[in-house]
Amino acid sequence: MTDYSRQSFLGKDSSEKLKDSKIGIVGYGGGGSHFGQQFGHIGIGHFVVVDDDFIEESNRHRFVGSEPNDLEADNLGNTRAKVEIARRQILRGNPHATVTALRRRWQEATDALSECDIIFDAVDSFAQRDELERFCRRNLIPYIDIGMVVTELDNGDFAISGQVVQSLPGTHCLRCCNIVTDERIAEEANQYGDAGPQPQVIWPNGVLASTAVGFGIALLTPWFPSTNALRWLVYDGNTGTLKEPNILSQYLVNTSCSHHPETEVGDPLADIREWQPTDQVCRPSQSKVMFLQRWISWLREKMDHLRI
Ligand SMILES: [Zn+2]
Repeated sequence: MTDYSRQSFLGKDSSEKLKDSKIGIVGYGGGGSHFGQQFGHIGIGHFVVVDDDFIEESNRHRFVGSEPNDLEADNLGNTRAKVEIARRQILRGNPHATVTALRRRWQEATDALSECDIIFDAVDSFAQRDELERFCRRNLIPYIDIGMVVTELDNGDFAISGQVVQSLPGTHCLRCCNIVTDERIAEEANQYGDAGPQPQVIWPNGVLASTAVGFGIALLTPWFPSTNALRWLVYDGNTGTLKEPNILSQYLVNTSCSHHPETEVGDPLADIREWQPTDQVCRPSQSKVMFLQRWISWLREKMDHLRI
């Protein structure tokens, strides 16, 4: 048994809430592996981890929980699946957790993902982020994204940067933040196969993933009055700082998202105003019911106002 008393400031029933929660992790590599480590230790009870890949030697320097013998090929010639390393790592933190480890593309794991309370994404592609965010909104699931890039500067130095974004149904999205744009998606599609491996190192992923874990725990067991629905921090890895971009307070707080209209939030075949949370989900965890009640009352208000 783990004694969670030192994190009991998260709320008197926080251990039960965390044990009852199901976390989705899409993309289990340099960034995603920090999620498995931290959410296991903190006592999350249920996990869905999706990644179609096997570990490679070039992943080891930033893959939390990986071991040298994970690179040994089995009789099919495969190294250890990344989702199996995830399972092992999560169970080290919480031996009682249930881990649904799916070695496939996330688009082939939507049934399992739709049951999650929060989905964390550490994928490299803008197109994947765009699709996954849309999926989360349809299924009324909070979505938290992290990403980092290393850019070579004109003088030959390098800049490390990144972001953490919390995107909730009915509020601003990655497109509002200009993180996902049609230009970036098109550029990515054109370069597919030519771009080569992107530079990555372990510590910025650790900063970004740890910050995202904090965002997630604040949704599940808030230990302070809630802040903005959109939470967005940009990371400057050269100075080691995380801060809110000015656009957030100067512009976005006074606008609403035009990319995912309220009418596109939730199942397109159902009127969200008629939904009863406990009837609509297969596994109504406390968090799921809390989130659904929040989105539904919020959206009912907006939709009634719009007279839809
Ligand atoms: Zn938007």
